[in-house]
Amino acid sequence: MEALIKELVEIDGPSGEEAAVRELIRERIEQSVDRTFTDNLGNLFALREGPAPLLLFSAHMDEIGVIVTHIDDHGFLRIAPVGGVRPHLLLGQRLRFKDGLLGTVYHEKIKDLKELDWSKLYLDIGAADGETARKHLRIGDMACLHQPFVNLGRRYLAKAMDDRSGCAVLIEAARRLPRSLPQGVCFLFSVQEEVGLRGATTAAYRLEPAYGFAVDVTSVGDTPEAPLMAVALGKGPAIKVKDRSVICHPRVRDLMIATAEQEKIPYQLEVLELGGTDAGAIHLSRGGVPSGALSIPCRYVHAPSEMIDAGDLRHAVTLIEKLASRAWPLPEKEI
Ligand SMILES: [Zn+2]
Repeated sequence: MEALIKELVEIDGPSGEEAAVRELIRERIEQSVDRTFTDNLGNLFALREGPAPLLLFSAHMDEIGVIVTHIDDHGFLRIAPVGGVRPHLLLGQRLRFKDGLLGTVYHEKIKDLKELDWSKLYLDIGAADGETARKHLRIGDMACLHQPFVNLGRRYLAKAMDDRSGCAVLIEAARRLPRSLPQGVCFLFSVQEEVGLRGATTAAYRLEPAYGFAVDVTSVGDTPEAPLMAVALGKGPAIKVKDRSVICHPRVRDLMIATAEQEKIPYQLEVLELGGTDAGAIHLSRGGVPSGALSIPCRYVHAPSEMIDAGDLRHAVTLIEKLASRAWPLPEKEI
């Protein structure tokens, strides 16, 4: 699991440019499913065939990043966020473009850090002048944070834990599924979640699942003077009750809780006041899809180093494995 997470977080996939991540995931999951396929937007589906009702488990492949908006005659680049990036968290950071080109972020003269916004930031790739910079880069090129994976013992630190840790959970759960399943299961690796749940929107429409589940990270309330939140690292994955994008269907939420209790898997309940996840798009598909979400507690979400707990990850895999292999009622009859 550690090796899988490390390889997943150390490649780059800003929203809309998920191809490298997609090809790695396809290689790692294709032995465990009946078939894989992609769609027009770049979503990757990994399907275990089976009778109705179809279960959809989604983790997003994309990560936050920046996009080049301007290159000046001295070779300095101006950038804008791709997804929820706070400018102060980029100061001094290294960013990497698709071809491996690196640069560092700094700010213009300011009197107070409160003045820091995107217009004050620039990216320096070490180019002698604008002409040299333009030989390597164009307007619209995207870059991601450049940070190695680190094992801190019980905890892992890396960029893009949001949501490669969720991708790793689905890959590992798919490996462990029994040969025969009571229903069909589709693992979705979605695109463009960070810019508005876009991949999950078209994927859910295409698949028409009976139930949907997102597997993504969530914030925690266990750091110094953190906003009050009843989720902590190391106390098990969090069964989502609500975030800004979805109120999880009570029957799905309760079946998730019942499964965790039957299997003696530790879990927490999550109410996330800011942020959303793929379940927000899935549950609104067509006539509505009863949906839930399993969250991996994560410190410093959308910062250059996001921290997760190895035990939470292990328990998340087991819970997804059990949810996918238990029999789910046909929603028309039961809900
Ligand atoms: Zn996410």
